[in-house]
Amino acid sequence: MAICRADKCNAFCCRYISVHIDTPRSKVDFDEIRWFVSHENVVVYKDEENDWLVEFVTPCKFLKNNKCEIYEARPDVCREYDPDGCADSEKNIEMKIAFKKPTDVEKFVAKRWPKKKKKKRSLSEKK
Ligand code: SF4
Ligand code: SF4
Repeated sequence: MAICRADKCNAFCCRYISVHIDTPRSKVDFDEIRWFVSHENVVVYKDEENDWLVEFVTPCKFLKNNKCEIYEARPDVCREYDPDGCADSEKNIEMKIAFKKPTDVEKFVAKRWPKKKKKKRSLSEKK
């Protein structure tokens, strides 16, 4: 079992929350993601298991000097967190796709749904 060293990792796991979202499939879904990442400290990504998550990078209110102030009464999600699978730094989170800002989504959508070029009408067609 991995040893949890909050002093070394700056208690990274207490500094964000991630919530699963439905797999985006349509332009409307990606436009919603564009809205998500228009907000500060919000990232949307697809992880190594192809799950989609929205992440809010914001520290827990009970984290003081890298220690949990409510350790005995901490939520189950904190109790069940396994340091073996710990993402002790942002670099360790496997992201297949990551949207950090609106332009990331816009570029992705432009590539996935390229705009068709309009055919120029010839003079004879215009008559
Ligand atoms: S579980 Fe990982 S990220 Fe969280 S405090 Fe322990 S070592 Fe740091
Ligand atoms: S409740 Fe405690 S263990 Fe859970 S995220 Fe907050 S500081 Fe970390």
